[in-house]
Order: sequence, then C-alpha cells, then structure tokens
Amino acid sequence: MGVYEDLGLTPIINAAGSNTRLGGALMLPEVVEAMRGAAQVSVSMEELQAAASRIIARATGADAGYVTSGAAAALTLGTAACMTGLDLKRIDRLPETTGMPDEVIIARDQRNGYDHAIRAAGARLIEVGMNEVVSGAGVRPVEAWEYEVAITERTAAIAYFARPGARPSVDSVINLARSHRVPVIVDAAAQLPPVENLRAYIAKGADLVCFSGGKALRGPQNTGILCGRRDLITAAAVQQLDLDARWDCWEPPDTLLPKKDLPGLPRHGIGRGFKVSKESIVGLLTALQLFSPERVSEDIARCRQLLHRLAERLAGIEGSELTTTIPPAVDSYPRIQLKIGRSAAAAAKRLQYEGSPPVYVDLTDLDDGILTVNAMNLTMGHLDTIARRLREAMTFS
Ligand SMILES: *Cc1c(COP(=O)(O)O)cnc(C)c1O
Repeated sequence: MGVYEDLGLTPIINAAGSNTRLGGALMLPEVVEAMRGAAQVSVSMEELQAAASRIIARATGADAGYVTSGAAAALTLGTAACMTGLDLKRIDRLPETTGMPDEVIIARDQRNGYDHAIRAAGARLIEVGMNEVVSGAGVRPVEAWEYEVAITERTAAIAYFARPGARPSVDSVINLARSHRVPVIVDAAAQLPPVENLRAYIAKGADLVCFSGGKALRGPQNTGILCGRRDLITAAAVQQLDLDARWDCWEPPDTLLPKKDLPGLPRHGIGRGFKVSKESIVGLLTALQLFSPERVSEDIARCRQLLHRLAERLAGIEGSELTTTIPPAVDSYPRIQLKIGRSAAAAAKRLQYEGSPPVYVDLTDLDDGILTVNAMNLTMGHLDTIARRLREAMTFS
C-alpha cells in the first residue's frame, strides 16, 4: 500500500502535465533523496537562502536569487521589493501602499490569473494597450511606447509575462524601462524548458525573473525561483524571512542580508506566509543543478517515444473520429492530441471519475473536441493502463 492508499485515496494518472491542481511535476529520485537528508538536520535559514542565492546566480547569470514558495510567491515578493526597497517603514506597512510608488504597468493582453499575485502585494495594475487585434479590426498589438507613456513617479515596476512570440518583445520593454529606471519583473514561470531560458531574461537585462520549481524543473511543487538584482533580492528576503533575532547577536550572510544597509530588524513582512522549508529549498536546488540540456532533451525524447507508442495503441478505434497528432516540439514537452469531437467533455469526465485508475488529461482544447496527453509524468509502465482507459472512454461516447 502506498501513502495515498493509506489515506483512503486512489492515486491518479496525471497525463495533463505539471498542473498545480494535479500535484505538479514528479520529482527525480535524487531530489527526494536530497530532501530526505535535509529534513533530518537543522540549518540556519538565512545561511541556506544565501547559499541558494549563489547557486541560483550561477545557474541564471543573475546577481542573486531566492527560493520562494512558487512563482506566484516570487511575483508577490518581487513586486513588494520594487515598492519598498529596504525602507523598513514601507515594508511594515504593506499591503497598504499610501505614499509609495505602487503602480505596476502591464499590457492588457498579458493580464492573467497569476497577476493577482502582483496585486496581493498591494500594487495596482495599470493596463496599457488595446485588444484591437481581437476584434479583427486592428493590426497592431501592444506597442512599447504605450508602456512608456504610462510611466509616472508612482510607477513601481513593469510586469511582463514571457511567452514565445509575445509582443512587444521583452527586449524592447526592458530597454525603455531602463531609460526611465523602472524595474521589469518577468514572469517566466512556465518558460522552462528550454534550459537556456534560465539565463535568457537576465541576459536581456530584466531586473527580476520568476520561475516555477514544480513544473519542468521537477523540484518540489511548492517552490519557485526569484532571481535578479541583488538589492531587490535583499528587499524580498527581508520581507519573507523570519528575522525575529536579537540585533546585537545577529550576523547575517552579507551577500543576502547586508547588515550595514539595515537600520534594524523588520517585523514579519508581507512574505511571512510564503514560508519555504529547508528540505524544499534543498530539493529545488538539487533539481536546478540536475536541469541540464542533456537530461532535459533525454526526458523529452522519452516522452515522444511514449506518445508514439500510445498513438499506435489508439489507432483504429471503431466508431470514433480519433485523429492523433504529435505537434513538433523540440524544446518543450511533446503532447498528443486526440480529436474525438463533440463527446470530448463526456470522455474527459469518464476518464476522471468512472473506471480505474482515474486519468486526467489536458483540457486546454476541449472546446475543439480535443483531449491532449502530456507524458511528462508518465512512464512506459503506464502505457497499457492509459491506452485501455482512453479506449474505454472513447468507445462509450
Ligand atoms: C504556473 C504559473 C505561475 C505560478 O507558478 P507557481 O510556481 O505554481 O506559483 C505563474 N505564472 C505563470 C505564467 C504560470 O504559468
């Protein structure tokens, strides 16, 4: 019996990907081993985060880094850091922002559910751009000048949600922000792989970049990375860490918490609820160090092979309009699309709740009658079961 069976639960087959609601990506054995070691020995959390900062800096090319409780927490902490700096009065006041710059500029077409994490710090989003392209009438997406004219003395940061092909380019937004000395926070939570994206946004000059630890990095689900300018990472650390120490006995690591720059020790900040355990930090750092181009392309090749085999097994189901396609994906996890038409929603529901074991697929294209399978959490050992469950669900439709 496994741990979930002991709790009276039936484990699911996650054929959807790294979705948070399905527990994120599975961790590698090396990561679990490192976490086991970390869980049974005590350590100073300030020293551990300072070590994390060095390792993240090496992997990303940033000055400094911090392990957060997910990319969403990184967005909140990064936003807070841009609003407060090391001003302890401001840090103490958040999310109340009277008297400090609290506007974060964002393109209207980049608004998404995760921008609540920016607002959670107390910031107000200032939308720019116009969704003219959506109406079919306009030809221009958001342009860089629209960010520029929105900058005022109340601007705390520009938020940019990275995506391949996003317009205007992140380079152009960073360039104009630089000329106004406004920091740019890049949400690159799901932009890994490719591995080189760990460095890409920092190399372009982003002030802060956020990544998820629980997606393709295969770290603990409740981790993320905030990396970038050292002063901003310090400001984030100061409002996240428990600093209930005695000033006269406190000798923090200078690279993360330069004591000379602090007038005193702040009380719990807005990030106090975003606690990351020592074993989660160690797990994330282990996963980050294992995240090499070689290992990732091996893993992607494994997934492609698995999906090709699955496609073979699903070929020729009578009475279904099944078409399978494996979109070419060199740098990202491949997916197989099962086009089954109008009955797709019923089939998805049956996969999840009728029959055993439950199978969860990606429903992004459900409205087009498509169920999508992502193999990142599957092994060859799942092949028979998932093929059987998909056949069952589709033949009944
Ligand atoms: C997943 C995701 C997040 C949140 O990441 P967590 O690590 O789950 O907190 C934020 N932004 C984007 C664009 C994401 O895809």
